[in-house]
Amino acid sequence: MSPLRTLDQSSKLRDVLYEIRGQALVEADRLENEGHTILKLNTGNPAVFGFEAPFQIVRDMIEAIPHAHGYSDSRGIMSARRAVVYRYEQDEAFPPFGPEDVFLGNGVSELITMVMQALLDEGDEVLIPAPDYPLWTAMTSLGGGNPVHYLSDEQNGWQPDLEDIRAKVTPRTKAIVVINPNNPTGAVYSREVLEGIAEIAREHSLLVLADEIYDRILFDDAVHIPMASVAPDLLVLTFNGLSKTYRVAGYRSGWLVITGPKAHAAGFLEGITLLASTRLCPNVPAQHAVQAALSGVQSIDALIGPSGRLHEQRDAAWEALESIPGVSCVKPQGALYAFPRFDPEVHEIRDDAKFVYDFLVAEHVLLVQGTGFNWATHDHVRIVTLPEARVLTQAIERLGNFLASYRQ
Ligand code: PLP
Repeated sequence: MSPLRTLDQSSKLRDVLYEIRGQALVEADRLENEGHTILKLNTGNPAVFGFEAPFQIVRDMIEAIPHAHGYSDSRGIMSARRAVVYRYEQDEAFPPFGPEDVFLGNGVSELITMVMQALLDEGDEVLIPAPDYPLWTAMTSLGGGNPVHYLSDEQNGWQPDLEDIRAKVTPRTKAIVVINPNNPTGAVYSREVLEGIAEIAREHSLLVLADEIYDRILFDDAVHIPMASVAPDLLVLTFNGLSKTYRVAGYRSGWLVITGPKAHAAGFLEGITLLASTRLCPNVPAQHAVQAALSGVQSIDALIGPSGRLHEQRDAAWEALESIPGVSCVKPQGALYAFPRFDPEVHEIRDDAKFVYDFLVAEHVLLVQGTGFNWATHDHVRIVTLPEARVLTQAIERLGNFLASYRQ
Protein backbone atom coordinates (compact mmCIF):
# COMPACT_ATOMS: atom_id res chain seq x y z
CA MET A 1 0.00 0.00 0.00
CA SER A 2 1.30 3.49 -0.81
CA PRO A 3 1.73 5.87 2.17
CA LEU A 4 -1.44 7.68 3.18
CA ARG A 5 -1.57 11.15 1.70
CA THR A 6 -1.82 14.02 4.20
CA LEU A 7 -5.26 15.60 4.15
CA ASP A 8 -5.33 19.27 5.07
CA GLN A 9 -8.48 21.34 5.25
CA SER A 10 -9.23 23.11 2.00
CA SER A 11 -7.78 26.54 1.42
CA LYS A 12 -11.35 27.83 1.17
CA LEU A 13 -11.51 27.50 4.95
CA ARG A 14 -8.46 29.69 5.50
CA ASP A 15 -10.47 32.66 6.78
CA VAL A 16 -13.48 30.77 8.12
CA LEU A 17 -13.69 31.23 11.90
CA TYR A 18 -16.41 30.36 14.38
CA GLU A 19 -15.05 31.00 17.86
CA ILE A 20 -18.44 30.51 19.57
CA ARG A 21 -17.60 26.80 19.33
CA GLY A 22 -13.83 27.24 19.18
CA GLN A 23 -10.82 26.01 21.19
CA ALA A 24 -12.21 27.12 24.55
CA LEU A 25 -15.20 24.80 24.01
CA VAL A 26 -12.82 21.90 23.38
CA GLU A 27 -11.22 22.62 26.76
CA ALA A 28 -14.65 23.01 28.40
CA ASP A 29 -15.67 19.60 27.07
CA ARG A 30 -12.40 18.10 28.31
CA LEU A 31 -12.99 19.53 31.79
CA GLU A 32 -16.53 18.15 31.74
CA ASN A 33 -15.24 14.72 30.81
CA GLU A 34 -12.93 14.94 33.82
CA GLY A 35 -16.04 15.37 35.97
CA HIS A 36 -16.14 19.17 36.41
CA THR A 37 -19.35 21.13 36.08
CA ILE A 38 -18.92 23.86 33.47
CA LEU A 39 -21.34 26.75 33.04
CA LYS A 40 -21.39 27.14 29.27
CA LEU A 41 -22.37 30.69 28.38
CA ASN A 42 -21.11 30.43 24.82
CA THR A 43 -24.21 29.60 22.74
CA GLY A 44 -27.71 31.06 22.60
CA ASN A 45 -29.37 27.68 23.11
CA PRO A 46 -32.42 28.21 25.33
CA ALA A 47 -33.22 24.48 25.80
CA VAL A 48 -30.16 23.74 27.91
CA PHE A 49 -31.16 26.41 30.43
CA GLY A 50 -34.54 24.90 31.15
CA PHE A 51 -36.64 26.67 28.52
CA GLU A 52 -39.30 24.22 27.35
CA ALA A 53 -40.44 24.01 23.74
CA PRO A 54 -43.99 25.42 23.51
CA PHE A 55 -46.35 22.46 23.81
CA GLN A 56 -48.43 23.26 20.71
CA ILE A 57 -45.30 23.11 18.56
CA VAL A 58 -44.17 19.76 19.95
CA ARG A 59 -47.68 18.32 19.60
CA ASP A 60 -48.06 19.40 15.96
CA MET A 61 -44.67 18.00 15.12
CA ILE A 62 -45.44 14.66 16.74
CA GLU A 63 -48.73 14.51 14.84
CA ALA A 64 -46.94 15.33 11.59
CA ILE A 65 -44.11 12.83 11.93
CA PRO A 66 -45.98 9.78 10.56
CA HIS A 67 -46.62 11.76 7.35
CA ALA A 68 -43.33 13.68 7.19
CA HIS A 69 -40.92 11.01 5.99
CA GLY A 70 -40.74 12.10 2.35
CA TYR A 71 -38.75 14.91 0.78
CA SER A 72 -40.74 18.12 0.40
CA ASP A 73 -40.64 20.94 -2.13
CA SER A 74 -37.12 22.42 -2.03
CA ARG A 75 -38.43 25.74 -0.75
CA GLY A 76 -40.38 24.03 2.01
CA ILE A 77 -43.93 22.83 2.58
CA MET A 78 -46.68 25.18 1.42
CA SER A 79 -48.50 25.39 4.79
CA ALA A 80 -45.33 26.65 6.50
CA ARG A 81 -44.52 29.14 3.74
CA ARG A 82 -48.11 30.44 3.89
CA ALA A 83 -47.78 30.79 7.64
CA VAL A 84 -44.67 32.91 7.10
CA VAL A 85 -46.59 35.11 4.62
CA TYR A 86 -49.43 35.47 7.13
CA ARG A 87 -47.01 36.43 9.92
CA TYR A 88 -45.61 39.37 7.98
CA GLU A 89 -49.03 40.40 6.62
CA GLN A 90 -49.88 41.41 10.20
CA ASP A 91 -47.37 44.25 9.81
CA GLU A 92 -48.86 46.72 7.33
CA ALA A 93 -45.51 48.37 6.68
CA PHE A 94 -43.85 45.12 5.59
CA PRO A 95 -43.81 44.89 1.77
CA PRO A 96 -46.14 42.27 0.32
CA PHE A 97 -44.78 38.89 -0.84
CA GLY A 98 -46.12 35.42 -1.57
CA PRO A 99 -45.20 31.84 -0.65
CA GLU A 100 -42.99 31.70 -3.76
CA ASP A 101 -40.76 34.33 -2.08
CA VAL A 102 -40.16 32.18 1.00
CA PHE A 103 -37.40 29.60 1.44
CA LEU A 104 -37.36 27.42 4.53
CA GLY A 105 -34.03 26.22 5.83
CA ASN A 106 -32.35 24.00 8.38
CA GLY A 107 -32.05 27.05 10.58
CA VAL A 108 -31.11 30.52 9.44
CA SER A 109 -27.53 29.19 9.33
CA GLU A 110 -28.17 27.07 6.24
CA LEU A 111 -29.92 29.95 4.49
CA ILE A 112 -27.02 32.33 5.18
CA THR A 113 -24.65 29.78 3.68
CA MET A 114 -26.82 29.28 0.59
CA VAL A 115 -27.29 33.00 -0.03
CA MET A 116 -23.59 33.79 0.25
CA GLN A 117 -22.68 30.93 -2.08
CA ALA A 118 -25.27 32.09 -4.61
CA LEU A 119 -24.22 35.75 -4.42
CA LEU A 120 -20.47 36.08 -4.26
CA ASP A 121 -17.62 35.98 -6.73
CA GLU A 122 -13.97 36.12 -5.77
CA GLY A 123 -13.20 39.57 -4.30
CA ASP A 124 -16.78 40.78 -3.94
CA GLU A 125 -17.21 42.79 -0.76
CA VAL A 126 -19.94 42.49 1.85
CA LEU A 127 -20.44 45.12 4.55
CA ILE A 128 -20.91 43.37 7.89
CA PRO A 129 -21.25 44.96 11.33
CA ALA A 130 -18.44 44.84 13.88
CA PRO A 131 -19.12 43.27 16.24
CA ASP A 132 -21.14 40.68 14.31
CA TYR A 133 -22.72 37.28 14.57
CA PRO A 134 -19.64 35.64 13.06
CA LEU A 135 -21.39 33.25 10.71
CA TRP A 136 -21.96 36.18 8.35
CA THR A 137 -18.23 36.88 8.12
CA ALA A 138 -17.38 33.18 7.90
CA MET A 139 -19.84 32.48 5.09
CA THR A 140 -18.76 35.57 3.17
CA SER A 141 -15.20 34.23 3.24
CA LEU A 142 -16.29 30.71 2.31
CA GLY A 143 -18.22 32.16 -0.62
CA GLY A 144 -15.01 33.78 -1.92
CA GLY A 145 -16.00 37.28 -0.84
CA ASN A 146 -14.25 39.82 1.35
CA PRO A 147 -15.98 40.76 4.59
CA VAL A 148 -15.62 44.50 5.23
CA HIS A 149 -16.58 45.40 8.78
CA TYR A 150 -18.42 48.62 9.55
CA LEU A 151 -18.42 49.94 13.10
CA SER A 152 -21.24 49.86 15.54
CA ASP A 153 -20.73 52.69 18.01
CA GLU A 154 -20.62 51.60 21.64
CA GLN A 155 -20.89 55.25 22.76
CA ASN A 156 -24.15 55.45 20.86
CA GLY A 157 -25.81 52.29 22.22
CA TRP A 158 -24.04 50.16 19.59
CA GLN A 159 -26.00 51.74 16.71
CA PRO A 160 -24.27 51.29 13.33
CA ASP A 161 -22.05 54.22 12.38
CA LEU A 162 -23.49 55.51 9.09
CA GLU A 163 -20.38 57.56 8.26
CA ASP A 164 -18.22 54.47 8.65
CA ILE A 165 -20.55 52.46 6.39
CA ARG A 166 -20.47 55.17 3.77
CA ALA A 167 -16.67 55.36 3.90
CA LYS A 168 -16.34 51.62 3.35
CA VAL A 169 -18.50 51.26 0.23
CA THR A 170 -16.39 50.49 -2.86
CA PRO A 171 -17.24 49.51 -6.44
CA ARG A 172 -16.89 45.87 -5.29
CA THR A 173 -19.48 46.15 -2.49
CA LYS A 174 -22.41 43.89 -3.29
CA ALA A 175 -24.41 43.68 -0.11
CA ILE A 176 -24.86 45.01 3.41
CA VAL A 177 -25.71 42.81 6.40
CA VAL A 178 -27.90 44.25 9.15
CA ILE A 179 -28.36 42.22 12.36
CA ASN A 180 -31.21 43.75 14.32
CA PRO A 181 -31.78 43.14 17.23
CA ASN A 182 -28.08 42.58 17.35
CA ASN A 183 -26.05 39.61 18.46
CA PRO A 184 -23.74 40.14 20.36
CA THR A 185 -24.57 43.69 21.55
CA GLY A 186 -28.33 43.48 22.18
CA ALA A 187 -28.82 46.80 20.33
CA VAL A 188 -32.15 47.50 18.65
CA TYR A 189 -31.67 49.92 15.79
CA SER A 190 -33.46 53.25 15.51
CA ARG A 191 -35.60 54.17 12.51
CA GLU A 192 -33.15 56.94 11.69
CA VAL A 193 -30.25 54.50 11.45
CA LEU A 194 -32.24 51.96 9.43
CA GLU A 195 -33.31 54.69 7.01
CA GLY A 196 -29.70 55.82 6.76
CA ILE A 197 -28.62 52.29 5.85
CA ALA A 198 -31.42 52.05 3.29
CA GLU A 199 -30.30 55.35 1.77
CA ILE A 200 -26.72 54.10 1.35
CA ALA A 201 -28.00 50.82 -0.13
CA ARG A 202 -30.15 52.82 -2.56
CA GLU A 203 -27.29 55.07 -3.63
CA HIS A 204 -24.94 52.17 -4.31
CA SER A 205 -27.47 49.53 -5.40
CA LEU A 206 -26.61 47.17 -2.55
CA LEU A 207 -28.48 44.00 -1.68
CA VAL A 208 -29.75 44.22 1.91
CA LEU A 209 -29.44 41.11 4.08
CA ALA A 210 -31.48 41.55 7.26
CA ASP A 211 -30.94 39.00 10.04
CA GLU A 212 -33.93 39.54 12.31
CA ILE A 213 -33.91 36.28 14.26
CA TYR A 214 -34.35 38.20 17.56
CA ASP A 215 -37.12 40.51 16.34
CA ARG A 216 -39.53 39.39 19.06
CA ILE A 217 -37.02 39.34 21.91
CA LEU A 218 -37.23 42.97 22.99
CA PHE A 219 -37.01 44.61 26.41
CA ASP A 220 -38.34 47.80 27.98
CA ASP A 221 -39.78 50.07 25.30
CA ALA A 222 -37.69 48.74 22.43
CA VAL A 223 -39.52 48.52 19.11
CA HIS A 224 -38.22 46.43 16.23
CA ILE A 225 -38.54 47.99 12.78
CA PRO A 226 -38.05 45.46 9.98
CA MET A 227 -35.42 46.53 7.47
CA ALA A 228 -37.73 45.51 4.59
CA SER A 229 -40.36 47.99 5.77
CA VAL A 230 -37.99 50.97 5.49
CA ALA A 231 -36.68 49.78 2.12
CA PRO A 232 -39.68 48.42 0.18
CA ASP A 233 -38.09 49.74 -3.03
CA LEU A 234 -34.94 47.62 -2.52
CA LEU A 235 -34.26 43.91 -2.75
CA VAL A 236 -34.19 42.83 0.89
CA LEU A 237 -33.68 39.29 2.16
CA THR A 238 -35.07 38.91 5.68
CA PHE A 239 -33.89 35.96 7.78
CA ASN A 240 -35.75 34.59 10.79
CA GLY A 241 -36.64 31.30 12.42
CA LEU A 242 -37.84 29.27 15.37
CA SER A 243 -34.56 28.81 17.28
CA LYS A 244 -34.80 31.77 19.63
CA THR A 245 -38.35 33.15 19.83
CA TYR A 246 -39.79 29.63 20.11
CA ARG A 247 -36.79 28.11 21.95
CA VAL A 248 -36.50 25.13 19.57
CA ALA A 249 -32.98 25.69 18.22
CA GLY A 250 -32.47 21.94 17.89
CA TYR A 251 -35.28 21.58 15.37
CA ARG A 252 -33.17 23.58 12.88
CA SER A 253 -36.02 25.58 11.41
CA GLY A 254 -35.71 28.99 9.79
CA TRP A 255 -36.93 31.01 6.83
CA LEU A 256 -35.82 33.56 4.30
CA VAL A 257 -38.24 36.10 2.82
CA ILE A 258 -37.53 37.99 -0.41
CA THR A 259 -39.12 41.42 -0.84
CA GLY A 260 -38.74 44.36 -3.20
CA PRO A 261 -37.84 44.44 -6.90
CA LYS A 262 -36.54 41.14 -8.27
CA ALA A 263 -36.11 41.52 -12.03
CA HIS A 264 -32.56 42.89 -11.77
CA ALA A 265 -31.55 39.99 -9.54
CA ALA A 266 -33.08 37.10 -11.49
CA GLY A 267 -29.74 35.32 -11.84
CA PHE A 268 -28.91 35.53 -8.14
CA LEU A 269 -32.39 34.38 -7.14
CA GLU A 270 -32.13 31.45 -9.56
CA GLY A 271 -28.87 30.62 -7.80
CA ILE A 272 -30.68 30.41 -4.46
CA THR A 273 -33.33 28.18 -6.04
CA LEU A 274 -30.60 25.96 -7.46
CA LEU A 275 -28.83 25.62 -4.11
CA ALA A 276 -32.14 25.01 -2.34
CA SER A 277 -32.76 22.11 -4.67
CA THR A 278 -29.26 20.68 -4.24
CA ARG A 279 -29.91 20.41 -0.51
CA LEU A 280 -33.15 18.64 -1.57
CA CYS A 281 -35.27 20.18 1.19
CA PRO A 282 -35.05 21.22 4.84
CA ASN A 283 -35.85 18.70 7.56
CA VAL A 284 -39.56 18.05 6.98
CA PRO A 285 -40.82 17.35 10.55
CA ALA A 286 -39.35 20.69 11.66
CA GLN A 287 -41.11 22.47 8.81
CA HIS A 288 -44.39 21.33 10.38
CA ALA A 289 -43.40 23.24 13.51
CA VAL A 290 -43.49 26.56 11.62
CA GLN A 291 -47.24 26.88 11.21
CA ALA A 292 -47.90 25.76 14.78
CA ALA A 293 -45.38 28.28 16.09
CA LEU A 294 -46.52 31.26 14.05
CA SER A 295 -50.26 30.75 14.50
CA GLY A 296 -50.30 29.79 18.20
CA VAL A 297 -49.93 31.67 21.47
CA GLN A 298 -46.78 33.80 21.34
CA SER A 299 -45.39 32.59 24.65
CA ILE A 300 -42.22 34.66 24.21
CA ASP A 301 -44.25 37.73 25.26
CA ALA A 302 -44.54 36.47 28.84
CA LEU A 303 -40.79 35.82 29.00
CA ILE A 304 -39.74 39.31 27.90
CA GLY A 305 -42.28 41.36 29.90
CA PRO A 306 -41.19 43.24 33.07
CA SER A 307 -41.53 40.16 35.28
CA GLY A 308 -40.58 37.66 32.58
CA ARG A 309 -37.62 35.35 32.99
CA LEU A 310 -35.60 36.73 30.08
CA HIS A 311 -36.17 40.29 31.25
CA GLU A 312 -35.07 39.47 34.81
CA GLN A 313 -31.99 37.70 33.54
CA ARG A 314 -31.04 40.59 31.28
CA ASP A 315 -31.37 42.94 34.29
CA ALA A 316 -29.39 40.65 36.59
CA ALA A 317 -26.54 40.24 34.11
CA TRP A 318 -26.36 43.93 33.33
CA GLU A 319 -26.45 45.03 36.99
CA ALA A 320 -23.78 42.49 37.98
CA LEU A 321 -21.54 43.57 35.10
CA GLU A 322 -21.91 47.27 35.83
CA SER A 323 -20.93 46.69 39.46
CA ILE A 324 -17.48 45.34 38.51
CA PRO A 325 -14.82 48.07 38.67
CA GLY A 326 -13.46 48.82 35.20
CA VAL A 327 -16.32 47.02 33.42
CA SER A 328 -19.18 48.75 31.61
CA CYS A 329 -22.01 47.36 29.53
CA VAL A 330 -24.52 48.97 27.20
CA LYS A 331 -27.85 47.68 28.47
CA PRO A 332 -29.15 45.15 25.93
CA GLN A 333 -32.50 46.16 24.45
CA GLY A 334 -33.09 42.82 22.78
CA ALA A 335 -31.72 39.33 22.02
CA LEU A 336 -30.07 36.99 24.53
CA TYR A 337 -26.61 38.43 25.21
CA ALA A 338 -24.55 41.07 27.00
CA PHE A 339 -21.33 42.42 25.49
CA PRO A 340 -19.43 44.14 28.32
CA ARG A 341 -16.29 46.22 27.90
CA PHE A 342 -13.19 45.88 30.06
CA ASP A 343 -11.53 49.24 30.44
CA PRO A 344 -7.94 48.73 29.18
CA GLU A 345 -6.71 51.29 31.73
CA VAL A 346 -7.93 49.01 34.50
CA HIS A 347 -7.73 45.50 33.07
CA GLU A 348 -4.67 44.37 31.20
CA ILE A 349 -5.90 41.95 28.54
CA ARG A 350 -3.70 41.65 25.48
CA ASP A 351 -5.22 38.42 24.18
CA ASP A 352 -8.93 38.03 24.85
CA ALA A 353 -8.99 34.37 23.72
CA LYS A 354 -6.37 33.62 26.37
CA PHE A 355 -8.44 35.53 28.91
CA VAL A 356 -11.52 33.41 28.11
CA TYR A 357 -9.42 30.26 28.35
CA ASP A 358 -7.84 31.26 31.67
CA PHE A 359 -11.22 32.21 33.14
CA LEU A 360 -12.66 28.87 32.04
CA VAL A 361 -9.86 26.87 33.62
CA ALA A 362 -9.96 28.86 36.87
CA GLU A 363 -13.71 29.40 37.32
CA HIS A 364 -15.35 26.80 35.07
CA VAL A 365 -17.43 29.38 33.19
CA LEU A 366 -17.21 29.50 29.39
CA LEU A 367 -17.56 32.90 27.66
CA VAL A 368 -16.64 33.98 24.13
CA GLN A 369 -13.98 36.61 23.43
CA GLY A 370 -15.00 39.81 21.64
CA THR A 371 -12.57 39.20 18.79
CA GLY A 372 -14.64 36.08 18.02
CA PHE A 373 -17.32 38.53 16.87
CA ASN A 374 -14.89 40.39 14.63
CA TRP A 375 -14.41 43.14 17.18
CA ALA A 376 -10.93 44.51 16.57
CA THR A 377 -9.69 45.19 20.12
CA HIS A 378 -9.21 42.74 22.99
CA ASP A 379 -11.56 44.44 25.43
CA HIS A 380 -14.93 42.67 25.27
CA VAL A 381 -16.52 39.30 25.97
CA ARG A 382 -19.98 38.00 25.17
CA ILE A 383 -22.15 36.50 27.89
CA VAL A 384 -25.30 34.51 27.13
CA THR A 385 -28.09 35.73 29.42
CA LEU A 386 -30.10 32.49 29.36
CA PRO A 387 -29.31 30.98 32.81
CA GLU A 388 -31.50 31.91 35.76
CA ALA A 389 -30.74 35.29 37.33
CA ARG A 390 -29.12 33.77 40.44
CA VAL A 391 -26.74 31.68 38.32
CA LEU A 392 -25.85 34.64 36.12
CA THR A 393 -25.20 36.90 39.09
CA GLN A 394 -22.87 34.33 40.68
CA ALA A 395 -21.01 33.70 37.42
CA ILE A 396 -20.49 37.43 36.86
CA GLU A 397 -19.34 37.90 40.47
CA ARG A 398 -16.74 35.22 39.77
CA LEU A 399 -15.76 37.14 36.64
CA GLY A 400 -15.28 40.27 38.78
CA ASN A 401 -13.13 38.44 41.35
CA PHE A 402 -11.07 36.82 38.62
CA LEU A 403 -10.53 40.14 36.82
CA ALA A 404 -9.40 41.83 40.05
CA SER A 405 -6.11 39.91 40.10
CA TYR A 406 -5.77 38.98 36.42
CA ARG A 407 -2.68 40.14 34.46
CA GLN A 408 -1.37 39.09 31.08
N1 PLP B 1 -28.37 34.76 13.20
C1 PLP B 1 -28.08 35.19 14.43
C2 PLP B 1 -27.92 36.66 14.67
C3 PLP B 1 -27.90 34.28 15.47
O1 PLP B 1 -27.60 34.73 16.69
C4 PLP B 1 -28.04 32.89 15.21
C5 PLP B 1 -27.80 31.90 16.27
O2 PLP B 1 -27.33 32.18 17.35
C6 PLP B 1 -28.35 32.50 13.90
C7 PLP B 1 -28.52 33.45 12.93
C8 PLP B 1 -28.50 31.04 13.53
O3 PLP B 1 -29.75 30.57 13.92
P1 PLP B 1 -30.37 29.19 13.46
O4 PLP B 1 -30.50 28.37 14.71
O5 PLP B 1 -31.70 29.54 12.87
O6 PLP B 1 -29.46 28.56 12.48
